[in-house]
Amino acid sequence: AARAQPGVQRLKAYDPGHDLVALRRKFGEANLAELGSNENPYGPSPAARQAILDSLHALHRYPDPLGADLKRALAARHGVDVKQIQLGNGSHELLMQLGQVFAGPGDEIVFSRYGFAVFALSAQAAGAQMRIVEALPRDAAMPNGHDLDAIAAAVGPATRLVYIANPNNPTGTWFGRDALIAFLDRVPGEVIVVMDEAYAEMADAPDYASALSLLDRYPNLAITRTFSKAYGLAGLRVGYLLAQPGLIAVMDRLRESFNVNGLGLAACEAALGDVDHLQWACARNAEQRSALSEALGRRGLRVFPSQTNFVLVEFGARTPQIEAALVERGVILRPMGGYGLADCIRISVGSPDENRRLLAALDEVLA
Ligand code: PMP
Repeated sequence: AARAQPGVQRLKAYDPGHDLVALRRKFGEANLAELGSNENPYGPSPAARQAILDSLHALHRYPDPLGADLKRALAARHGVDVKQIQLGNGSHELLMQLGQVFAGPGDEIVFSRYGFAVFALSAQAAGAQMRIVEALPRDAAMPNGHDLDAIAAAVGPATRLVYIANPNNPTGTWFGRDALIAFLDRVPGEVIVVMDEAYAEMADAPDYASALSLLDRYPNLAITRTFSKAYGLAGLRVGYLLAQPGLIAVMDRLRESFNVNGLGLAACEAALGDVDHLQWACARNAEQRSALSEALGRRGLRVFPSQTNFVLVEFGARTPQIEAALVERGVILRPMGGYGLADCIRISVGSPDENRRLLAALDEVLA
């Protein structure tokens, strides 16, 4: 039988939760509320669609292996050098590669309980030890959030990488600049701190801060971002990594030559140019996030604070039954048992119409 390396032997394959293809066939796409994967219900900028159409003549060609145009656009956007950018087939690929490139057997990778699921996958794929730090308690000001003090304390001589998501999935939690600086000051320079900022564009709280402005100050900082969320391009699988040129150059050794497809390169460059669309989608998300949180709260549910495009909601002991009854009504959410949050469901913030359908189905189920 196929015998995996020890880190992979214990792993289970990705479980998408539900068979979306079958559900779409059963209900018809228009009747489903697909709120399980934190997608952007508004879709990408029209400029991105046009860029895809304009690239169709080149489908028989390999894409630009360097992704030079997209990197230039990203460099201009973030005020960094193109040598500080690596593109990935989604930020998922980059998170996995960071583990592979910088850690191995005998090394440790540190992350928080309830940290994004790919952190554990990356550590195990690399054959490294996982050092899982307890999250902040559920009744803390930032429930289930990253305990940065405890994470810094867990960093030891074998630690090669620390993964942190800000804001985090599935908790929706976040932290600000002072906490970030205090944390980075405590971590030794030879330990790489990966800040996963997949939801950064959607965070608007005054006490949230991206690590972007700290890149020059902390050479061990690596930031991942994605076009899957705020830019509405999850289907194209494009993410990027920002770090010092030396770190990017090392990462580049393991990169698959054509890891980002041509349609993705063209569409993301165009999407980046349409700041109005991005801001519009983020503003709508913020408005729907608070409306949905309030509506769920009025139904007696505990909704945890979030700076993302989803909310984590406590449903109690009947969570599995409630979730199943919602699926029967065409409402797809993400159960959290796999994360050790079995009494919670993660609900993506949908369009106003999807959110209405969710609430109507919920009222039937909770009645
Ligand atoms: N980081 C976090 C925190 C996420 O929630 C996700 C998507 N669920 C990703 C990274 C990966 O996104 P992608 O591979 O689409 O860039």
